[in-house]
Amino acid sequence: MYRHVTNSVIMVEATPSEIGHEFISCYILTSGSSGCIVETGPAASYEYIDRALKEAALAETVKLVIPTHIHLDHGGGVGHILNRYPDMIGLAHPKAYKHLINPDKLWDAALMYLGWLAEIYRKPEPVSEEQLRTTYDGMEIVFGDIELVVIHTPGHASHHQSIYFRNEDALFVGDSAGALIQPLEMIVPTTLPPIRLELYLESINKMINYKPSRLYYTHYGFIDNATDVLKEYHRFVIDLWNIAKEYEPKSIEEYKSLIVKSIDDMDKLFDWIRGKPIYNSLMDFSLNGIMAYK
Ligand SMILES: [Zn+2]
Repeated sequence: MYRHVTNSVIMVEATPSEIGHEFISCYILTSGSSGCIVETGPAASYEYIDRALKEAALAETVKLVIPTHIHLDHGGGVGHILNRYPDMIGLAHPKAYKHLINPDKLWDAALMYLGWLAEIYRKPEPVSEEQLRTTYDGMEIVFGDIELVVIHTPGHASHHQSIYFRNEDALFVGDSAGALIQPLEMIVPTTLPPIRLELYLESINKMINYKPSRLYYTHYGFIDNATDVLKEYHRFVIDLWNIAKEYEPKSIEEYKSLIVKSIDDMDKLFDWIRGKPIYNSLMDFSLNGIMAYK
């Protein structure tokens, strides 16, 4: 399932059905005769992208595949797509490069860390070196009518990159700025262990400097007033961190009740995610990441 969000942005639903829907979105950007993919989603979902490329008649137009990072839910399908489209080139953070060429270590780590969820996401296929290039921070990419800037945004992962789409003043944030709960216009943190909180906050500031108008999230959808949203999210993460430092909660439940007491509307957010196991575990992991951070 896919839909045109704007003339230049197609959003592809890429959540494996076993875990529900509206958790993973991928994007196809097009302008004139140029196109690129930002995020492929997991290996298990590559067919969603493949179908969208064919149905939207973009299989010949799209030449680049850019994952924000290689966690299975974001870049797990890069190999599957590149292996089926030999004319496409992948653009990876230098620290992600070797894991795309040989995903074995990444897969073992995912099995250990995610367990059954990794099995649902499935093992990534290796990418051939001929089809892979590396990025650098601030890298400007102009091809045809498309203008992009790759912004290295470590913290959630050391190899995280966000993609600024100049044509639409839009930023594709991957997991560098939380997970958007579109119906509430609220954000669940993406501060899973081993989070590097200072780097994570620095990366948010780096993105604020681009003053984007719209943020496209992988989890899930998009939101406007992007610069304000990033500033509020930065504040939110600091507030969460301060609560953890001040009260040193002993359990996740204790931490949550302290958060509800200290930050407006958090009960609303916790209520909403309670019925959504995948968001619930993202929240718990993320709060654990902050609690454990020294
Ligand atoms: Zn993610």
